[in-house]
Amino acid sequence: MNSRSQSTDVFVVGGGPAGLATAIAASQKGLRVTVADGAAPSIDKPCGEGMMPETLAALRSLGVEIEPQEVRKFRGISFAQAFVQKDERVQEDTRVFADFPQGAGIGMRRHLLHERLVARAEECGVELRWNTPVMGIDAAGTHRINVQLSLGKISARWVIGADGQGSRVRRWSGLEAARRTKLRHARRRHYRVSPWSEYVEIYWGLHSQAYVTPVGAEEVCIVVMSESADRVSFDQALCEFPQVKTRLAGAELASRERGAITSIHTLRHVQRGNVALVGDASGSVDPITGEGLRLAFRQAFALADFISANELPAYERAHHDLARHPIRMGHAMLWLCRHPRIRARLIRVMAAKPDLFAALLATHAGHGSPADLLSNGALLGWRLLANA
Ligand SMILES: Cc1cc2nc3c(=O)[nH]c(=O)nc-3n(C[C@H](O)[C@H](O)[C@H](O)COP(=O)(O)OP(=O)(O)OC[C@H]3O[C@@H](n4cnc5c(N)ncnc54)[C@H](O)[C@@H]3O)c2cc1C
Repeated sequence: MNSRSQSTDVFVVGGGPAGLATAIAASQKGLRVTVADGAAPSIDKPCGEGMMPETLAALRSLGVEIEPQEVRKFRGISFAQAFVQKDERVQEDTRVFADFPQGAGIGMRRHLLHERLVARAEECGVELRWNTPVMGIDAAGTHRINVQLSLGKISARWVIGADGQGSRVRRWSGLEAARRTKLRHARRRHYRVSPWSEYVEIYWGLHSQAYVTPVGAEEVCIVVMSESADRVSFDQALCEFPQVKTRLAGAELASRERGAITSIHTLRHVQRGNVALVGDASGSVDPITGEGLRLAFRQAFALADFISANELPAYERAHHDLARHPIRMGHAMLWLCRHPRIRARLIRVMAAKPDLFAALLATHAGHGSPADLLSNGALLGWRLLANA
């Protein structure tokens, strides 16, 4: 064992965005925090790299500094539905745009986000242990837990599992019971090209979806997703989106292609005794919602509040409340993925009535009440029927 501390208040397993945000928020509450991650910074990961205005606000509350020249702002979301003929010509291209009601979102390379979070965690005095996989946890009396590392044990008052989708902390603490939607396959690439839109563009194809996030003055991040493993090749999926393919013609690749498997994953419980889960370890939303990071940061704040108040069991309720809306949104988006005719009609309706799309985006971004959601949903339903 090295000379570093062998006991701490909060031990966070996993130094991705959720783990680092939890560590920063807990240290801001005056707790001693240690983070261990099996990898070393800066950690890259397949991600759409789009952050909503509220995600950015959460980063600011953590004290994370973002340099404007390192990122690319976007003003809202656009949906595009193309009807592509066999020869790949676009027969019809319907688009709808909506601005965020307040502020702008940003596209930022994942490794940069990680660097900034690491820098802030160091500034807050968090003990960071990289290349340090956690091998197990076990109870040490009623109030403490031993965390097993390859070089020995560390004793902690609380252990937080922030170890991503395949969380082992989840398994070790008996929190595995869950519901999962069908798996989806995602691939991510970056291209060196000037962003052609001020929006994050979501393209809907027959079998796949693509989304394009501007991440720099000369760079875009592209994610393609499909339920079908046969369509997992990036180039093949791109054929469903000739509008994007044309933009990328001749552009240089700016990163190694990376893949991920995703689903909407909801756990029955996210806390047991002195152990709690956060971020993707505690369940995940579909990437197409663009909500993963915002949700992880909000969970991190809640977790730090409940730990410092010594009320960890109350985290479970808060977690459930935070995840409810993004999960519903994820299910709605997946449903649209599977119903191309209704989706096409919906996009046409919203293109004719852009205020409706803007109102739905505002609700998604947390600026509308449940009553707004209901009335906009009802109006949308009515317009869909009227256009049937
Ligand atoms: C294709 C795709 C696109 C996405 N696009 C967006 C988007 O545009 N906007 C958005 O907000 N969200 C997006 N998301 C979601 C977002 O990326 C995730 O929600 C976010 O990465 C979750 O972070 P995390 O810290 O929970 O998990 P991770 O980033 O997976 O971090 C987990 C960490 O735990 C470490 N670890 C694992 N096991 C151990 C162990 N035993 N010991 C020590 N360390 C361990 C790993 O090394 C890793 O660093 C996307 C996700 C995918 C897959």
